[in-house]
Amino acid sequence: MRKLTSEQELMLATVRQFVDKEVMPVASAMEHRNEYPHALANEMQRMGLFGLNVPEDYGGADVDYTTFAMIFEELSRGWLGLAGIIGTHSVLCDVLIRYGTEEQKRKFLPGLAAGERRGGICLSEPNAGTDLQAISTVATRKGGDYLINGSKMWVTNGRFGNTFLLLARMEPRVEPPHKGMGAFVIEKGAPGLTVSRDIDKLGYKSVETCELHFQDFPVPAENLIGGVEGEGFKQVMTGLEAERINVAARGLGIARAAFDEAIRYAQRRTTFGKPIAEHQTIQIKLADMATRIEASRLLIYSAAEKKDRGERCDLEAGMAKLFATETAAEVAFEAMRILGGNGYSKDFPVERYYRDAPLVVIGGGTNELQRLIIARNLLKKYKVES
Ligand SMILES: Cc1cc2nc3c(=O)[nH]c(=O)nc-3n(C[C@H](O)[C@H](O)[C@H](O)COP(=O)(O)OP(=O)(O)OC[C@H]3O[C@@H](n4cnc5c(N)ncnc54)[C@H](O)[C@@H]3O)c2cc1C
Repeated sequence: MRKLTSEQELMLATVRQFVDKEVMPVASAMEHRNEYPHALANEMQRMGLFGLNVPEDYGGADVDYTTFAMIFEELSRGWLGLAGIIGTHSVLCDVLIRYGTEEQKRKFLPGLAAGERRGGICLSEPNAGTDLQAISTVATRKGGDYLINGSKMWVTNGRFGNTFLLLARMEPRVEPPHKGMGAFVIEKGAPGLTVSRDIDKLGYKSVETCELHFQDFPVPAENLIGGVEGEGFKQVMTGLEAERINVAARGLGIARAAFDEAIRYAQRRTTFGKPIAEHQTIQIKLADMATRIEASRLLIYSAAEKKDRGERCDLEAGMAKLFATETAAEVAFEAMRILGGNGYSKDFPVERYYRDAPLVVIGGGTNELQRLIIARNLLKKYKVES
């Protein structure tokens, strides 16, 4: 792995300290109350975490993907919800950086990097998630605006965010659908956008996930990303490739937190006259958990380094996302077993990790989809000439 610069080390140490001192002591209680962590989000803003992947010219920190992944891992070790606040925000930034016009970058990126604008992504709909080509939200040109009509589902940061990446089909419709889509930066403010509800969830609480309804919601034509119709699907898909690295890192953070709790507990809890850590069955669990965690870390760094070299990394990011998030779910459950009844109790954070882990398995492209992406790339790589 590449050695981090002293600046990167410092940033990471600051986040680690923030997580240990300010997040860990309050995360479970706030999560149980489903309370939005305004003060912690503001502290993240002060630390510059909203501008992690934004170039310095636009006020960001412009960290490489390895550091980016490490920061997501640390945040998520403390509380997945906090990583969620900057997760989809960074996808919006990524798409703008890659495809936005200079004018769009100047207009949106400084505010996003400073955390004054809080971002999110409006892609999924009630009837389309994995199959994003099946979305039915439409954008119809009217004078200098596009009017947006439709519903977006599962929008993380939907209530407290104010600036979103939105994918819509252009009217008149084009077939195949991916050729007739546009990606927009939208801002709250104009009439026609309603946050219709906050979805009640198993875990990943406190950070809000909402349904947004659009009725003739006007978006200035200059907010069409890149200024070209028909490019939106491709633009969004590239942003989702980067998202897989951050979701994988979030999985790693959950797994680490669960493992840390389990290995501490195993050395203190005594049964049949000795600490449970001395029972071989528990040792095997700890060994398997730690091995999977280390393998997840290496897969994530391998994908991040490829991305840093400017290469596509669908295969590596897919593998990292699949393995690290399945590890999160498995390790959280194993940690619960090691804690016995206490693992099931809200007095210990393991139940939170156990409830949070499925989100990373499903979000950022389900793991079924990751397997399809991995297989597709392998078949391309190992193509047999006929
Ligand atoms: C808490 C939370 C936060 C979220 N935040 C956001 C957000 O901020 N913005 C946003 O746009 N979306 C967000 N999502 C939505 C998320 O991206 C979708 O839930 C996810 O992509 C799956 O889509 P779906 O729920 O429609 O499931 P479906 O696409 O209906 O899939 C159902 C099942 O079928 C499987 N499946 C589908 N197609 C195939 C296939 N071809 N082969 C094999 N299996 C298949 C899936 O893997 C899954 O198991 C969030 C979701 C959650 C739960």
